Amino acid sequence: MDNCIFCKIVKGEIPSKKIFENDEMLAFHDITPQAPIHFLIIPKRHISNLMETDAADSALLGKLLFKTQELAAELGCGENGFRLVVNCKKHGGQTVDHLHLHVLGGRQLAWPPG
Ligand code: AMP
Ligand code: ZN
Repeated sequence: MDNCIFCKIVKGEIPSKKIFENDEMLAFHDITPQAPIHFLIIPKRHISNLMETDAADSALLGKLLFKTQELAAELGCGENGFRLVVNCKKHGGQTVDHLHLHVLGGRQLAWPPG
């Protein structure tokens, strides 16, 4: 997608503070952190949101989820825990239309969300 911010990050056209990268995913720090630890994990392939995935994406989705726990441990919120958020479309508050998992940790988070 030509004007997708996260595709531009994947291509290196916009800088990011990378945490992890392989052939199918990228993790980087959120530019506006909402917690002491706040990073995003995205598929490199442009997928607009979770509703645009299908059964063929199951393995990719599983890998994104599993990478969450590895990186949470690495960044220091594995022990006390964290929140995993996937905002989807308008009611979910999604602002960047490229599928991403938020990992928020490093402080006590409230529930329910707004
Ligand atoms: P969402 O509201 O779930 O779509 O979240 C989008 C997230 O992307 C927000 O937390 C933004 O702070 C974050 N974000 C937007 N642009 C960038 C960027 N260039 N680098 C890192 N994070 C970004
Ligand atoms: Zn994209």
